[in-house]
Amino acid sequence: MSPVRVEVVQDTCCCSGLCALAVPDVFGQDEDGIVVLLQSQPPQERHAAVAEAARRCPTTSIKVS
Ligand code: SF4
Repeated sequence: MSPVRVEVVQDTCCCSGLCALAVPDVFGQDEDGIVVLLQSQPPQERHAAVAEAARRCPTTSIKVS
């Protein structure tokens, strides 16, 4: 499988926390609840979870390429 690069858009994040709950080694939240990216290139075993988190983000603030 090819490498995956993850990006987050803090300007549109609504602080739902869904991504941090689902994949806490890749997504965190700052003191205001805004998403913080912990790993931009997660290991292969996390790719499916990251893709699911991106799909479930209510504001489509997670980009996977
Ligand atoms: S799921 Fe989306 S809106 Fe919720 S904290 Fe993560 S990036 Fe922000």
